[in-house]
Amino acid sequence: MKNDHVPLYGAIEGGGTKFICAVGAAPKNIRAEARFETTTPEETMAHVVDFFKQQEEIMGKFSAIGFACFGPLDPDPASNTFGFILPTPKPGWSNANVVGMLRDSFDVPVAFDTDVNGAALGEWRWGAAQGRKTFIYLTVGTGIGGGAYVEGNLLHGLIHPEMGHVIVRHDMERDPFKGACPFHADCFEGLASGVAIEKRWGKRGSLLPADHPAWDLEADYIAQALSNYVMTLSPQRIIIGGGVGSLEHLLPKVQEKTRGYINGYIQSPVILENIETYIVHPGLGNRSGILGAFALAEEALQ
Ligand code: ZN
Repeated sequence: MKNDHVPLYGAIEGGGTKFICAVGAAPKNIRAEARFETTTPEETMAHVVDFFKQQEEIMGKFSAIGFACFGPLDPDPASNTFGFILPTPKPGWSNANVVGMLRDSFDVPVAFDTDVNGAALGEWRWGAAQGRKTFIYLTVGTGIGGGAYVEGNLLHGLIHPEMGHVIVRHDMERDPFKGACPFHADCFEGLASGVAIEKRWGKRGSLLPADHPAWDLEADYIAQALSNYVMTLSPQRIIIGGGVGSLEHLLPKVQEKTRGYINGYIQSPVILENIETYIVHPGLGNRSGILGAFALAEEALQ
C-alpha cells in the first residue's frame, strides 16, 4: 500500500425513518452522500446498492462497508444469522438479511452493528470520547438506545445491549401515564422516548417550552437510567444525543439529577465536582451515526 493511499469506504446509517449513505473515509473526507426513506428492506437496500454502485464507478472500488443500523439485529460474524434484523415490531423488517443484500453486490468486508454502537465508535474515533476506554453513547429520540464501549471494544455480549429498556422507578401519582413500550409498557423508553412525551402531553416535545413540567420528569427518568449505567459499567464519560437528548435546556437537569441519584456513592471527582464534563453532548452533533459507520468500516479492515 502506498503511503498516500486513502481508503474508500461505504457507510450506512440505517434508521427507522431514513437511511443515510455516504462514501469517503473520515469527517473531512466525505465525497458523496444520499438519503433514502426507510420502506421495505428490499426497496431500501436496493437504493443503497444502486447509490454505492454509481459511486464506485466514479471513485473506484470500496475497501470495506460499515453499516450502523436500527435493531435489534445480529452483529456476531460467527452466527448463522449475522447481518439479519431480528424480530421487530417494525412491519416487514423481522429476519431481513440486510447485510446479505449488500454482499450480493459488494465483495468486501462488511462491519454491521447497532446504530448506537456505531455512533459510540464514531465519538471515540473523532468526537467526545477520544482517549476514553470505557464510555456510553445514549440516544434519546423517537426511541431510546445505548451503545457501550468497554475496555477498548464495543460491547455485544449475548446479542447487544438494549439500554432503552431498563426498568426505572415510575411514580404513578406524579406520572399516571402508563407507558408506550409494546413489550414492557413503562420501561425507560416507554416513559421517556419522544413517542412517550407526545402521548403523555398531547404535543411533540419540540413544541413544549423549556419551563414545561415535562422536562423535569424527562430529566428524572434519564437520570435514573444513567445512574444505573454508571453503577453497572463504570463509564468514564456518558454522551447523550438524539432529538430529545440533545436539547440544551435538558442537559443541566440531567447532570444534576444523575448526581443526585448517585448520591455520593461513586467517589470520583468527575461526578462529584465536574459532572458537566462527565455527561456531555456528542462531539459530532447529529453526525455520530454516519461517521460511526465509517469507523466501523475502518475496523472491518483490521
Ligand atoms: Zn421496553
